[in-house]
Parts: sequence; C-alpha cells; structure tokens
Amino acid sequence: KEELNIIQGALELRTKTVEDVLTPLSDCFMLASDVVLDFNTMSEIMESGYTRIPVFENDRSNILDILFVKDLAFVDPDDCTPLKTITQFYKHPLHCVFNDTKLDAMLEEFKKGKSHLAIVQRVNNEGEGDPFYEVMGIVTLEDVIEEIIKSE
Ligand code: ATP
Ligand code: ATP
Repeated sequence: KEELNIIQGALELRTKTVEDVLTPLSDCFMLASDVVLDFNTMSEIMESGYTRIPVFENDRSNILDILFVKDLAFVDPDDCTPLKTITQFYKHPLHCVFNDTKLDAMLEEFKKGKSHLAIVQRVNNEGEGDPFYEVMGIVTLEDVIEEIIKSE
C-alpha cells in the first residue's frame, strides 16, 4: 500500500543519514570561482537544469560559495562578468552538515533555514596525517522528501 510505504519512509528518517541520500561530489554540477559569465558558461549553467550551483576555488572539494540561477537575472553575457562579482554581491550563506546527520534532523534544519541545500562533510582520519574535513557531496530538501515518498 502506498500509505504504508510513506509511513515506512517517514519512520526511516530517524535511522538514515545524509550520507545515505547525498549526491556525491563527483556528480555535482559546480563552477570554478574564476570563471567568467560569458555566453558559453551561462548556457552550460542553464543546460545543467540545477537551481543551486556550488562554487569552488582551485579544488572541487573546496566549496566557498553557492550561486542561485536567479542571481543571473541581471547578468548580460556580453559583459563577461566574473562569477566572483556575483557571488560577492549576493553572499548566500553556505550550510554545512556532517555525514552522520540523521534525515529527520536534516529535514528540521531545511524547514528552519532559508537554504534547501547543504554541503556534506566528514572527518577523514584514515591516512597517516592529521584528520581533516572532507567534502563528500551535497544534500537537498528534495533528497530527504524522496526518501519519504519513494515506493518500493
Ligand atoms: P529546484 O527543484 O528547487 O529547482 P533543483 O532541481 O536544482 O532545484 P533539487 O530539486 O534540490 O535541485 O534536487 C534534485 C536532485 O539534484 C537532488 O538529488 C540533488 O542532490 C541534486 N542536485 C541539486 N543541485 C545539484 C547540482 N548543482 N549538481 C548535481 N546535483 C544536484
Ligand atoms: P526556490 O525555493 O526553488 O527558489 P521559490 O522560493 O520561488 O523557489 P518555492 O520554494 O517553490 O518558491 O515556494 C515557496 C512558497 O512561495 C510556496 O508557498 C509557493 O506556493 C509560493 N510561490 C511560489 N511561486 C510564487 C509566485 N510566483 N507567486 C506567489 N507565490 C509563489
């Protein structure tokens, strides 16, 4: 029964974590912070279909900003505006969570906060060196909702 699946999914929010539902970093559509918003870049952004686009510096795991597609409303591709000009103007807050955050807690955070996307990080202490924060991917409200309404 459909209802049973939804209840089941809702109950699982207490045990499942953001790590179970995230979109891995390798699959994320992102922009390098030093790109110029020319016709090509703006076309790529539109074709990606995503509303929120993480912006990284040097390395894809070094996410510093988030671009909303609606930030581009007043950008003319002919001006070749640097992406930095836009991100520094809007300065959308970055929301980071740890990989073991339970989905019910994540849902509460999404309901409270303004942003519906969070960067998922974990503590990597596998190597020889000091432990460090490692970005695993992104999670959105849609990923949590999907977990509730998915039918199997
Ligand atoms: P909206 O539905 O609010 O327009 P969207 O379609 O861009 O936003 P979501 O609906 O939040 O994105 O998420 C849909 C799926 O796409 C989720 O699995 C999410 O993790 C993934 N996703 C969101 N943004 C990106 C991105 N920039 N690159 C890759 N995957 C993304
Ligand atoms: P996003 O969060 O993906 O940027 P959004 O903020 O434009 O999108 P939603 O988050 O989908 O909109 O919806 C927020 C609330 O605003 C909902 O209650 C929705 O019905 C309402 N809403 C969305 N678009 C409009 C609109 N054009 N006029 C009035 N209310 C709207």
